[in-house]
Amino acid sequence: MKLKYIVTGNKDHCCGCRACEQACHAAALSMKPDGEGFLYPVFDEARCVDCGLCERVCPMGDPLLPVDEPAEVYAAKSRSEKLCMSSSSGGLFSEIALHVLEKSGAVFGAAFAGDGSVHHVAVESADGLGLLRGSKYVQSDIGDCYSRVRDFLKAGRWVYFVGTPCQVAGLRKFLRKEYDRLLTSDLVCHGVPSQKMFAAYKEWEERRHGGKIREFSFRNLKGWGHSIEFSIEGPQPGGTRKSVRYLFNEFSPYYHGFIHGLMTRPSCYACPYARTGRVGDLTLADYWGVADVFPKLDRRHGVSLLLANTDKGKSLLRAISPRVELHRSGLADAVRENWNLAHPTPKPQERADVYRLLDERSFDYLAKTLFRYPHKWLWVLRYAGVKVLEFLHLKPVVKRLLKHR
Ligand SMILES: Cc1cc2nc3c(=O)[nH]c(=O)nc-3n(C[C@H](O)[C@H](O)[C@H](O)COP(=O)(O)OP(=O)(O)OC[C@H]3O[C@@H](n4cnc5c(N)ncnc54)[C@H](O)[C@@H]3O)c2cc1C
Ligand code: SF4
Ligand code: SF4
Ligand code: SF4
Repeated sequence: MKLKYIVTGNKDHCCGCRACEQACHAAALSMKPDGEGFLYPVFDEARCVDCGLCERVCPMGDPLLPVDEPAEVYAAKSRSEKLCMSSSSGGLFSEIALHVLEKSGAVFGAAFAGDGSVHHVAVESADGLGLLRGSKYVQSDIGDCYSRVRDFLKAGRWVYFVGTPCQVAGLRKFLRKEYDRLLTSDLVCHGVPSQKMFAAYKEWEERRHGGKIREFSFRNLKGWGHSIEFSIEGPQPGGTRKSVRYLFNEFSPYYHGFIHGLMTRPSCYACPYARTGRVGDLTLADYWGVADVFPKLDRRHGVSLLLANTDKGKSLLRAISPRVELHRSGLADAVRENWNLAHPTPKPQERADVYRLLDERSFDYLAKTLFRYPHKWLWVLRYAGVKVLEFLHLKPVVKRLLKHR
């Protein structure tokens, strides 16, 4: 057996996709969480028949899946304001998913389960799409979805699979052949925290607000920019519900830890997929810096960055074009403010202590120390300044001046 992670024991070599576990017919690999709450394969040598399949399907093993450089780059958004408002950026995922569902296909993506954990699931009707909509900033458990995708494809159905690039690469390596009816979208990916950290954060919010979290959204568009919003029921089950919303995401300790890369999976800091070459037919992302490139575009309900990487991706865009606004852009503009399209998130020094502090102290301790934004009002001033510069179309000029200082 030569599965890279099992051979090296190096956590940089495993993204937790479960492709090896699902491919092994001898049940010699099973996924177990480590102390930080991230899943890794555990090897049972006695069961292994040395077939080499796990090594071939691993998206972090050599050789990596060949990637496609984007053929077309767009600033894009759905023409439906309602879809944009319930999505993370421009609602492109929903428009593509609706198109596949109209062909009696199945859509695979990440959904919250009843206990608040996040798993990949299949949806076969438009009513179910709400479960998948919206980014969940925690690692989604793939479960047995790769096998289920293969079953759908073998039955001649269309499948649309959305996930982080390593999950899309894991699926494509697991399938070991191309299917005409498989369409994939990868996300530009900042990295993923563990479900253990997310559960600890939710318990912290529940204690603070005296009740149980019932609905949770990482990217609510009702306030100023994107912000975490959830509803709290309590103190008794079935009691009254109140809505809690952060004014800015940065002020939520969980988001602060996420965006600063303080609690990300080890493999994310060495991610081989944080690059312009992509593994999905399409890439979905936020179009950071869109105001500088398309100053007149209405951005109130979000704008996506959309990359069409393959011929299949390009044909899909032609098919949904009546339902979406597409503005042709360039890769250099796309990468300028979206640097996870070109580099993995750097590992901060403090990362080494974060999960130990969670165990030895508590989430409350992290919220008051490493995950705390120290100067909130400075952040608000900076945010307001950027918005004013965007309004006056002066942001690129000021950035150039600061760069040449
Ligand atoms: C962990 C994570 C990190 C990201 N980092 C960046 C970034 O650095 N820069 C950037 O521009 N964009 C990033 N994105 C992508 C961005 O937040 C939006 O998901 C994307 O723009 C699509 O928006 P939408 O409006 O088209 O779709 P939405 O309706 O918001 O749909 C989101 C899609 O993402 C899938 N999804 C949600 N959560 C997860 C998850 N945890 N794992 C796998 N799939 C998931 C859903 O199944 C759905 O298909 C990230 C997303 C995630 C989940
Ligand atoms: S080599 Fe084959 S039998 Fe052994 S763990 Fe890998 S897939 Fe399973
Ligand atoms: S990256 Fe996926 S296939 Fe590779 S070892 Fe980890 S779980 Fe297995
Ligand atoms: S950063 Fe890379 S390794 Fe981490 S979840 Fe995203 S695609 Fe996977």
